[in-house]
Amino acid sequence: MSHPVKKVVIAGGGTAGWMAAALLKKVLQNQIDIELVESADIGIIGVGEATIPPIQTFNQFLGLDEKAFLKEAHGTIKLAISFENWRKEGESYLHTFGAPGATLGFTGFHHYWLRARQAGLTQSLWDFDLNALCCEQAKFNKIQSDNPVYQLGYAYHFDSALYGQFLRRLAEQAGVRRTEGTIEHVKQHLQTGFVEALQLRDGREIHGDLFIDCTGMRGLLLKQALGVEFDDWSHWLCADSALAVPSERHQQTLPYTRSIARQTGWQWRIPLTHRNGNGLVYSSAYLSDEKAAEMLMSNLDSPALDEPRKISFTTGRTTRQWHKNVVGIGLSSGFLEPLESTSIHLIQSGIIRLLKMFPNQAITPSMEALYNRESEQEFETIRDFIILHYYLNERTDSDFWQDMQRLTLPDRLAQKIAAFKDTATIFNEQNDIFRDASWVQVMMGQGIMPADYHPSANVHSDAQILDVMQKIHTAKQQPLAQMLGHDDFLARYTGS
Ligand code: FAD
Repeated sequence: MSHPVKKVVIAGGGTAGWMAAALLKKVLQNQIDIELVESADIGIIGVGEATIPPIQTFNQFLGLDEKAFLKEAHGTIKLAISFENWRKEGESYLHTFGAPGATLGFTGFHHYWLRARQAGLTQSLWDFDLNALCCEQAKFNKIQSDNPVYQLGYAYHFDSALYGQFLRRLAEQAGVRRTEGTIEHVKQHLQTGFVEALQLRDGREIHGDLFIDCTGMRGLLLKQALGVEFDDWSHWLCADSALAVPSERHQQTLPYTRSIARQTGWQWRIPLTHRNGNGLVYSSAYLSDEKAAEMLMSNLDSPALDEPRKISFTTGRTTRQWHKNVVGIGLSSGFLEPLESTSIHLIQSGIIRLLKMFPNQAITPSMEALYNRESEQEFETIRDFIILHYYLNERTDSDFWQDMQRLTLPDRLAQKIAAFKDTATIFNEQNDIFRDASWVQVMMGQGIMPADYHPSANVHSDAQILDVMQKIHTAKQQPLAQMLGHDDFLARYTGS
């Protein structure tokens, strides 16, 4: 396209649409006009309540007041995900957003911890993680310290529909135009295939230079109009269904998500201030909807507030996420089950990537290529991280879990597991959103105890390494005494 982008049209007003509208307007201000089209008849998917820490940066950049946002979206603090029964029935571990241990030298803390175990240390890796200690006691407070030992990484649980409304207000105040209507036809240039306008059911046409497809799993522009293909990853991640149901809140809200493996599939529990979000993710090849509903409803730990709602999906991604003058953001560009709460993050990083490459003059093939390469890497590393949880299970109670143990892994993941087993080494992939600590926690939590560790951890004698570990352990315990219960923190912080 040879002319500058002056008008951006966002198709869809779910979490993806309003996140895109709010951030693009904030950054580009009056350089561009933004119009968002959404259909009340179609509505939004209405699930997606758990996030990962980078959302804080996104919100801060928008100038969103954390206290007001938490209060309005019934938000709670998320310090970790508790994976229960994933390795074996009755066992659990935390994937925390913290930094276990401390920086001790050339290599990661877990190497020193492995070294210390040889010297007789009995504490687990999680005993050195402030996030894990706070989860155990359901405590939280903001820590004002530059010392990385006291780092307490956190994200949020919130009602995503309310979050969307919050962003809508910000975006509209900043000048984003919202149009209510159902898109019936996508008008394309006869020669180039570039999208020229969206035609609504009532005949109105919305013209633009750049179109962002946020129409959810339909992918109205990217998949349906431009015919971009979908790379189906069901042979690795076979879940294709979820049942979601809200239930009454508990007396005490936990500062973490629970992910509980069931005989077939897994169940989430997300604590909000006014209710819990629950759901079961499963594969229809292994479990009928009726059995799934029974499994979910009989395993709720507070009374249900509604009937379960079914959502079907296919895991995978569009082979391109930017094609011609259309960028797919959110569910229109791919889906990964919510095991690690990554979808809202993928929306955020897609918008930021687009902004980094935003064309001042014309849309060029080089931008499209770079955008697509980076999003492919990002999607694939998350996919691999999710497969890891399934593959490393040791459950014997169903065909489902046994089949997961026999998965043929993507090469990179197979190498990653082998390297960790042999030498505790973690290799960072480009655009991997998960830190070394995340991979270490899940691999160890799922039962890998590396055969060796990095030689630099041998510079300490037995007595020295045990002493260092003791000091770190004591330091990690220190802030706990001043911490508030999670509910007390929320009540004081938000004034509710
Ligand atoms: P949608 O919410 O589906 O919005 C699509 C928009 O397009 C709507 O406004 C709709 O009206 C509009 N639209 C569609 N067709 C038309 C048309 N013809 N004309 C006009 N408008 C149209 N993510 C997380 O980060 N954490 C989680 O814990 C999490 N849990 C999930 C659990 C499940 C079971 C599922 C399925 C997803 C989960 N997700 C989670 C993903 C999360 O729900 C989505 O990433 C997020 O809601 C964004 O959705 P969206 O905006 O892309 O699509």
